Amino acid sequence: MHSILSRLRQTTDRIQKACILAGRDPAGVRLLLATKTVAARNIQIALSAGYKLVGENKVQEIKEKYAELLKFPHEQHFIGHLQSNKIKDILQYDVSCIHSIDCRVLAEKLEQRLAAANRTIDILIQVNTSGERSKFGTSPADALALAKHISSLPRIRVKGLMTIGIFSADHEKVRNCFRILRGVQQNIARADLPGVTMKELSMGMSQDLEVAIEEGATIVRVGTAVFGERPTPDSYYWNEHQT
Ligand SMILES: *Cc1c(COP(=O)(O)O)cnc(C)c1O
Repeated sequence: MHSILSRLRQTTDRIQKACILAGRDPAGVRLLLATKTVAARNIQIALSAGYKLVGENKVQEIKEKYAELLKFPHEQHFIGHLQSNKIKDILQYDVSCIHSIDCRVLAEKLEQRLAAANRTIDILIQVNTSGERSKFGTSPADALALAKHISSLPRIRVKGLMTIGIFSADHEKVRNCFRILRGVQQNIARADLPGVTMKELSMGMSQDLEVAIEEGATIVRVGTAVFGERPTPDSYYWNEHQT
């Protein structure tokens, strides 16, 4: 328990220092706890300490932890690859933002479900900035067209963009991914589309959050640095279409 609290403090310190170095207001960067494979009792520790933003990769895990986290006010985001047959479930579990919309078909199916439920939702468009075939996300070149299409879907509010940087120890390669995302952000913002704002950049994880903050991240998604190493390899979460 103490280790999660001290790791949370360390992570917050890292975010603060990175903001100061980048000349940014720390209030402009939110820490999202990436809680895949993390037991509900460990998430409770973080929520009791005042952390409020949580992201899961699988609807099944939201479901499993839902009852145990109900008494701890928090904001639930969805950061994993979304299968269209799971959209209905997502809407049942108070997910306030989906970070991973990356194609028209998915957006259209989401719009249909929202219409049936008579509600709206915030989303981010996921962009594949590393060019790795294993990663989900629209290509940087197609992102504007996708934003235009989603702009025509009245119940979906686009709040910004998300990316997973290349997995590399070379910070300049990672930085390049984040710069690409910022370029896409500026491009879409210029188009001034109805229902589309580009305030949020969800980028940066345990390994690379400092670089992401330098490049303009407003949400950093951190798992390992807070909760420790995961038993399951991330490929299980990121490469579903290849398995
Ligand atoms: C697991 C995950 C993270 C957090 O990764 P860490 O390296 O553990 O900080 C962030 N974003 C997504 C989409 C993830 O699946």
